[in-house]
Amino acid sequence: MSRSVLVTGGNRGIGLAIARAFAEHGEKVAFTYRSGEPPQDLVARGCLPVKCDITDPEQVEQAYKEIEERHGNVEVLVANAGINRDGLILRMSDDDFTSVLDTNLTGTFRVVKRASKGMLRARTGRIVLISSVVGLLGSPGQVNYAASKAGLVGFARSLARELGSRNITCNVVAPGWVDTDMSRAVSEQRLAESLAQVPLGRAANPEEIAGVVRFLVSDDAAYITGAVIPVDGGLGMGH
Ligand code: NDP
Repeated sequence: MSRSVLVTGGNRGIGLAIARAFAEHGEKVAFTYRSGEPPQDLVARGCLPVKCDITDPEQVEQAYKEIEERHGNVEVLVANAGINRDGLILRMSDDDFTSVLDTNLTGTFRVVKRASKGMLRARTGRIVLISSVVGLLGSPGQVNYAASKAGLVGFARSLARELGSRNITCNVVAPGWVDTDMSRAVSEQRLAESLAQVPLGRAANPEEIAGVVRFLVSDDAAYITGAVIPVDGGLGMGH
């Protein structure tokens, strides 16, 4: 299968692993990056790097135009780009809160809305949103991040109901700790305490998230929509 796939935030971390996994399996991959150089291995494989900050509607529109010209309408969208700005609530500024919401939730809205256009026309499409176990469990110091990630669940389930009759699925992947820049930024002590709560006793590697994303957009998952799939080593069990 060679579908037009877009992965946001595909230049590092989980998004990079997802983009690589799709490229290895012969899909036509486009990925967004914001600054610096796109990963050369993806470029060498023929993947299309698209510079785009998902907080800017014009950049999102421009990115889609570029992708549509080169790869046609996006058939598989993985909305992965995200940030955190942690802090206890009394110290959290309005900007800390709104910038996380604007990237993780509104940014996802922008890219999903634009992809839906072509998917509705084609009467088929696959959308995966990368949330977090934190959206379901909560986490001290992360009210902004948790709210944004919980919001993605309501978003996905509404979209699943709205677009299901057109054979468009929308699912959520909720990772626990994954070994990337984002998790490496927390203190060693906090990471060790958190990993002690994980039944599997370790963080995931990004490829373990990519495998589940690929499954969700495969034919084997054609009857799965509105699902929240935990990939968290058991950390969030019961939610
Ligand atoms: P990283 O910090 O390693 O990478 C984040 C990615 O998102 C980068 O590619 C970054 O681009 C991109 N990005 C951030 N803001 C924007 C923006 N405004 N516009 C476009 N791209 C943007 O994080 P991870 O790979 O760890 O995280 C990926 C996703 O997985 C996130 O949504 C995160 O919340 C989620 N997640 C991560 C977990 C973890 O433990 N690592 C656990 C659970 C969920 P750039 O390089 O330009 O900054």
